[in-house]
Amino acid sequence: MSTMTLDLSDFHWTMQLIDTLDAGLVVIDKDYKVCAWNSFMQNYSGINAENIMGQCLFASYPNLPEEWLKAKLASTEKLKTRGFSNWEDRPVIFEFKNFSPVSQGLLTMYQNMVITPLKSPTGIVTHFAIMLQDVSEIAKSKLHLKQSNEKLTEIGRRDGLTQLFNRAYWESRLFDEYVQLSTTGGRSTLVMFDIDHFKRVNDGHGHAVGDQVIKDTARLLMKTARETDFCGRYGGEEFAVLLANTTIDQAHYFAERLRKRIAGLEIEANGSTIKFTISVGLSEFDPEDANHVDWLKRVDKALYQSKDNGRNQTTVA
Ligand code: GH3
Ligand code: MG
Ligand code: MG
Repeated sequence: MSTMTLDLSDFHWTMQLIDTLDAGLVVIDKDYKVCAWNSFMQNYSGINAENIMGQCLFASYPNLPEEWLKAKLASTEKLKTRGFSNWEDRPVIFEFKNFSPVSQGLLTMYQNMVITPLKSPTGIVTHFAIMLQDVSEIAKSKLHLKQSNEKLTEIGRRDGLTQLFNRAYWESRLFDEYVQLSTTGGRSTLVMFDIDHFKRVNDGHGHAVGDQVIKDTARLLMKTARETDFCGRYGGEEFAVLLANTTIDQAHYFAERLRKRIAGLEIEANGSTIKFTISVGLSEFDPEDANHVDWLKRVDKALYQSKDNGRNQTTVA
């Protein structure tokens, strides 16, 4: 049966079916003139079919990504296959408002699109059918899931008491820094410090006060460090900082400033004032280090030298 025998009533039925689609359907010819514009398109665009039929799609709808869409159409014509656009690559093609009450927070409709080249009986592409699917709900839950995962990842990197980076994550960043410096060169310095006679705090004032001392130390560390410094809680009352692009001299200045600030800190607990000090070790990256653990061992040794020499001081490896 050829298309010539298509009955007018058949055509009417087809149009009604197209209007019941819960998706947008636009047919355009090769001059981009609109030949079909279904109910979905009318409802969301606010443009009635009779006002857009025979008009150039891009003239009637100037917000469209014209260049991109024309390239898509040209490629479906050339390949004579359907073309697709996924919301994850391009969320919005037709700027429609989303009325769904479930989609709070996502106002513009996110869309998937399928372009089908329509061929004449002789196999020449004469028209394009553009099918538009509202995927706002899927997009919203997927974006939400992504955000939740990012939050979980961030939580997994942090120490619960101080919100500094935990040891595992801090060490992974140290490893990255070591690899980077080994290949490209550069100067970075490690700082490690441990609270002096911390057991006395715990024994004399209780574990909760000990926790407070650890928290306040972390807070002062964050205040002293720059945005780019990488601060971690390495152990109970032991902290580690990776100072990227920092020489040992600059790091020494940082360490002494931190040490003095902590020595000046007064924590009120149970009616008494607690003062405490830290011992600090420093080690700059050395290409002679076989791996990041060697770099860490040197800073650890420097820290324990500070302890041996009487505490409340900074030692350079
Ligand atoms: P030093 O000057 O040699 O470092 O003496 P110190 O008393 O600080 O000795 P050390 O570093 O070995 O002691 C650490 C103590 O910290 C032992 C442990 O009970 C306590 N501790 C470890 N983690 C926590 C924590 O999260 N909270 C509290 N309150 N105490 C902790
Ligand atoms: Mg200690
Ligand atoms: Mg310790």
